[in-house]
Amino acid sequence: VLPLDVPGIRRDFPALTTPFHGKPLIYLDSAVSSLTPLPVVERMSRYQSFEHTNVHRGVSTLSQEATDRFEEAREKVRAFINAPSVKQIVWTRGTTESINLVAQTFGRRNVHAGDEILLSAMEHHADIVPWQLLAEERGATLRVIPMNDDGELILDGLDDLINERTRLVGVTHVSNVLGTINPVKEIIARAHAKGVPVLVDGAQAVPHLHVDVVDLDADFYVFSGHKLSGPTGIGVLYGKRELLEAMPPWHGGGSMILSVTWEKTTYAPVPARFEAGTPPIAQAIGLGAAIDYVTALGLDRIAAHEHALLAYATERLQAIPGLRIIGTAREKASVISFVLDGIHPHDIGSILDHEGVVVRAGHHCAQPVMTRFQIPATTRASFAYFNTREDVDALVSGILKVQEIFQ
Ligand code: PMP
Repeated sequence: VLPLDVPGIRRDFPALTTPFHGKPLIYLDSAVSSLTPLPVVERMSRYQSFEHTNVHRGVSTLSQEATDRFEEAREKVRAFINAPSVKQIVWTRGTTESINLVAQTFGRRNVHAGDEILLSAMEHHADIVPWQLLAEERGATLRVIPMNDDGELILDGLDDLINERTRLVGVTHVSNVLGTINPVKEIIARAHAKGVPVLVDGAQAVPHLHVDVVDLDADFYVFSGHKLSGPTGIGVLYGKRELLEAMPPWHGGGSMILSVTWEKTTYAPVPARFEAGTPPIAQAIGLGAAIDYVTALGLDRIAAHEHALLAYATERLQAIPGLRIIGTAREKASVISFVLDGIHPHDIGSILDHEGVVVRAGHHCAQPVMTRFQIPATTRASFAYFNTREDVDALVSGILKVQEIFQ
């Protein structure tokens, strides 16, 4: 694959050329939220300045055109993940809301006392807590697919973990802490062999991998716009049509109905049934523009660039005495978590911040992963298509400085 034109790409990110603490900004925190490229900002601004009104309402030209732009964005998402139909793309506020939607509709209808929900040991809290809430309400139990010391799921016992009481398997495609790329296609096939549907949390996968929901045979696939170079406040729930159609409504209000009388309301078909009220229109259009942006760069080229950075960063970090990388799976996306002997991640994060290097320090909304590795927190660097080897060098110099200060 051809290399990316990184200097050209960097011009689309004004934050990268604006001094930060008097230094160039080294943004190594795309896993928390991606920076937004100018074409996406400009597309949203144009919509908001010239094209905005409410969608799916009235016959005004403005409303029809806003509706067209909004629905075009849905089509861009459909094509991006190769979903069979736009009717299977539900707009939400983000990954968290998508999972809550499934838990509160599919879950409430299908999970009963004594049933089980099987989650992986490396789920984000967004794919744990909604199921815990449901399990408490229903008298159901959560079970966990364990992982090894490299941060890879141990699948030997999967066929026993999935039993006649299992109602759903929830697994993250890429771990936000460890970077592990999970073999979700295999997990889905093994769950389906026992008739159990699978929800895949794709929040950290869509920025880095080609996702084909049909090839994966995923029952639900969810992600957020703001990790995919798009805005906050918009996310996606993809679902198989028969599953979505069998799910009861969640939020009630305008747009999700066919007819309302005092006696009885009938509901709109999917996806409108799950989109009560005025949707995040500019955000949906912004996500469409973000998909155009990353598609034009090319996911293959993005992946190749990020892999090279990951390999370089892994090599340089491993050479630092006292540094331990958490998450050494064979299949990894461009996320590196690490701990330094005797120095708390929050101190590392603060000192790096003064050097202009933005990383994330903490439990990354995945406390069970911290418990598994018996650490309170990690420092995490995550790389995107605009990062360079010089960014990795700045991270390494920053870490050496941290060690000097603490010696
Ligand atoms: N799942 C994973 C794997 C994530 O990394 C995140 C974001 N950190 C989420 C879910 C939650 O996404 P959001 O906060 O956008 O709803």
